[in-house]
Amino acid sequence: MVDLYGEYLLPGSIYSLIRTNPQEANEFYNTNLGEVINWIPLIIICIGCGLIYSILKCTRQIKSIILLITLIIPFGYVTYKMVGHYHHTITLRYYVNNRIWNRPPYNSIYQSIQTYKEIQKRNAVEHTKDIDFGAKPMTDINKKQVYIVAIGESLRYDNLSLNGKYARSTTPRLEALENLVLFDDYYSQACLTMYSIPQLVTRATPDNYELNFAERSIVEPFREAGFSTYAVVSQTNLLSYETYLTNGVDSLIIVPNIVKNGEIISGDKTIVHIIDSLTHKNDRLFIITQFYGNHSFFTNYESEFDIYQPNSNNQGASRDSILLTNAYDNSILYTDYILSSIIDIINMPDVISGFMFMSDHGEDICGDGAGHGGNCTPLKTEYHVPFIFWWSENYAQLFPEKVAMAKAHKKAKINGDCIFYSVCDMADIQLDSLYNEPTWSVLSSHFKEHTRLILVPDGVTTISPD
Ligand SMILES: [Zn+2]
Repeated sequence: MVDLYGEYLLPGSIYSLIRTNPQEANEFYNTNLGEVINWIPLIIICIGCGLIYSILKCTRQIKSIILLITLIIPFGYVTYKMVGHYHHTITLRYYVNNRIWNRPPYNSIYQSIQTYKEIQKRNAVEHTKDIDFGAKPMTDINKKQVYIVAIGESLRYDNLSLNGKYARSTTPRLEALENLVLFDDYYSQACLTMYSIPQLVTRATPDNYELNFAERSIVEPFREAGFSTYAVVSQTNLLSYETYLTNGVDSLIIVPNIVKNGEIISGDKTIVHIIDSLTHKNDRLFIITQFYGNHSFFTNYESEFDIYQPNSNNQGASRDSILLTNAYDNSILYTDYILSSIIDIINMPDVISGFMFMSDHGEDICGDGAGHGGNCTPLKTEYHVPFIFWWSENYAQLFPEKVAMAKAHKKAKINGDCIFYSVCDMADIQLDSLYNEPTWSVLSSHFKEHTRLILVPDGVTTISPD
C-alpha cells in the first residue's frame, strides 16, 4: 500500500487482499508489474531464509541471524519507502505515541486485528440484506430527480459567515444562494469520524450505536424506491474501501487525494466533476459523498483561496493559533466553493433537486494534535457543526410544505439522529412504520425536539451536551 498507493495499510485493503480472485490478481500484476519486480528479490531472500531455517541444521546463532534478516529486510524496505513517500519530511509528529501503531509498517499487526473485527461485522451485516425498509416514493413524479447528501470533515459552525455572526467572509458563495437554510443549532453525535459517520448514514444513535452493524445504510431506502445510487468518496475516508456502510450502492467511486510538498490536497474538486457527469447520466439519482474538507492541518485548498495570511501553511508547520485559524478559514473558503459548485450543477431547469450537507464533527482549531474527539469532554466547537439544506425552484413548487418546515426549524435543537429520516423525507420517501420516525425529520410538520446525545471515543459512553 505504501509503495504502490502511497497510503496506510487499512483493514479494507487487507480485506480486499483476502477476498481477491485470479482475474483481479492478474489485472493487478499487469498494471503494476514494474513496482512488483522491485519486490521479487526481497521475497526470494525471505523465502530462501525460511527454507534455510527449516531444512538445514544450523546452529542457534545462524538461525537467529536468519530470523533477523527476514524481519529487517521487509520492514526496513517499507520504512525506506515511507520516508521517500513523505519526501523526507517525516518528523516526530508522525510518531507520537497514539499514532505509531497506526503507521506502516508497524500497523500491520494492529490492522490485521482490525480486519478480523471488520470481517466479523461483515458477517453480521450479511443478515441485514434481508431487511427491507419498505421504502416507497409518496408522490408520482415524472421529472428528473437528483438528491445529494454530502458529508463534510472537521467543519465547525462558528467559522462560517453564513451564520451571520462570523466577521470574516468565509462563505460568500453559499450566502449568495437563495433556497438555502443553515440550521443554527445542530450537533454531531460524536466528535470522531469513525463514530460519527456510521450514525449519519444509518439509523444508529449514541444510545444504540450497534444498530449500524444490524441495518443497511441510507442508500437502501433510495435503492428500494428505484433510484440509481452512488457513493463518491475522497480517498482515506471511512466510506471508501467498500465498507459495510456503502454496501448495496450501485457504484462506489473512490477519488484519490494527492500529496503536495508533504501535505494532502484532496480530490474534493474531482468529486464535483464526477457529480456533474452522474447528474447528466441518471434520471433518478441519489448520491452520497464524503469530502476531505477541513481536516487538520487545514491544507486542503488551492492557491486562489489562500486569502488569510500569514497562515500555518506558508509559515512552516506552526501551532500558533492565529496562523492555524487563517489556514482553517482558507479551507472553509474552499469548502464554500466546492459546495456551491455542486449546487450549481444540480440547479437545472425542470429538475427536482435537493442537497443536504452536514459535517461529521467540528474542530478545536488550536487543540493539541488532531483538534477533535480525542477526549471524553469535548468542547462545543467539536460538535456544533453546520447542517445545510438547499432545494431547487422545482422542488419548492412540488414540496412547499417541506421547504416551509425547513425554514421553521432553522433555530430548532437538532442532532445527527435526524439525518437519516430528513434525507428520506427530502426525496419524499416513506419508510415502513417499523423503521420510520417522522418526529425526527426536520422537513416534517411532526418534527419534535428531543434529547441530544454524544457518543464519546470509548464507543460506549454517551454524554448530554444540553
Ligand atoms: Zn472527521
